[in-house]
Amino acid sequence: MNILNELTGKFPQEDYPKESRIHPIAGTHPVKGTWYIKREDELGFFTAGGKIRKWRTLVPSLVSKGVDTALLIGSSQSNNVLGLSLLLIEKGIRPLPILLNSKDPLPRGNRLFLELTVGSRQLLFVEREEWHRVEEIALSLQRKLSAEGCKAEVIPEGSYLTEAFFGALTLAADILRNEVERGCSFNHIFIEAGTGLQAIALILGLAAASHPGSVSVLLLADKEEIFLEKLEKWRLVLEEVSGIRLCSSSMHFSLFRPRTQKAFKPISGKGWEGLVSFAQSSGVWTDPVYSSRLFAEAFSEGKTKEMEGDILVIHSGGLSSLFGFEKELRACLPSCD
Ligand SMILES: *Cc1c(COP(=O)(O)O)cnc(C)c1O
Repeated sequence: MNILNELTGKFPQEDYPKESRIHPIAGTHPVKGTWYIKREDELGFFTAGGKIRKWRTLVPSLVSKGVDTALLIGSSQSNNVLGLSLLLIEKGIRPLPILLNSKDPLPRGNRLFLELTVGSRQLLFVEREEWHRVEEIALSLQRKLSAEGCKAEVIPEGSYLTEAFFGALTLAADILRNEVERGCSFNHIFIEAGTGLQAIALILGLAAASHPGSVSVLLLADKEEIFLEKLEKWRLVLEEVSGIRLCSSSMHFSLFRPRTQKAFKPISGKGWEGLVSFAQSSGVWTDPVYSSRLFAEAFSEGKTKEMEGDILVIHSGGLSSLFGFEKELRACLPSCD
């Protein structure tokens, strides 16, 4: 048993799937090295990717605290709010989403499925101008519910919580398993960061296991300084819980920002052609917010840095958000004129 399994084994876990396969990325790529993909998207449909790993330890902690209502903060297309809501319903916990109001005239994508499962009346929308105080709004709702006798808990965007971090560590453990099965050791591993929790768990998990490979993190939301501050905070959490010393020389990583489209939002225009042509050449669909951008940027970063050897790109799932983009996808069909 490796050190990471030992560590996550200290926490109660749900039995959600945690083993995903890796395979070479089909198609030709104008880069050196042997490129593999880790199919976290195959771990589930609405409940896939890095998120289901976070929920492995988050859900049992909510159950053991006797929580009956969860206030879930996120964007209206959030993979976290939709997927976690489903797993909470399974446990008899009522999800109350607190969503950033989008300008969509009609519910679409993840928001449509969320509304269908939890009911339109359960959704609370916060306007963009008010969004900076969403946690405050959630806490005051939590207090109101407590006064009514409910046991409510606030779940921040992306389940950015200690209870989720230890589940997220199973990604590093599963990569070690893939390596043993394939008989290889990855030189570079690409992953994207929203809140950064899954990328941070990967960096720290590999460091705890003394893995020599380097993690390249595509920063989609945070600036470098913020990511580094977060990394330091979680390093201390992990040291405290595990008793392992993680010095900075054991952490191998680099951070990079998207070359095109700096804003944290779905791709547009040519990005859609790229997403569709990647599906055609590799047989893998990617989502328009995270993974499609990661693959495009990873190939370009690999080329710039002249990376060689065995290179792994993590596909973190999120495919259900594609449902909100039928129009953009249809525009990629060959026209008949
Ligand atoms: C949520 C999500 C992320 C971001 O994960 P963080 O831990 O918040 O950085 C990345 N990719 C996909 C597909 C996601 O759903």
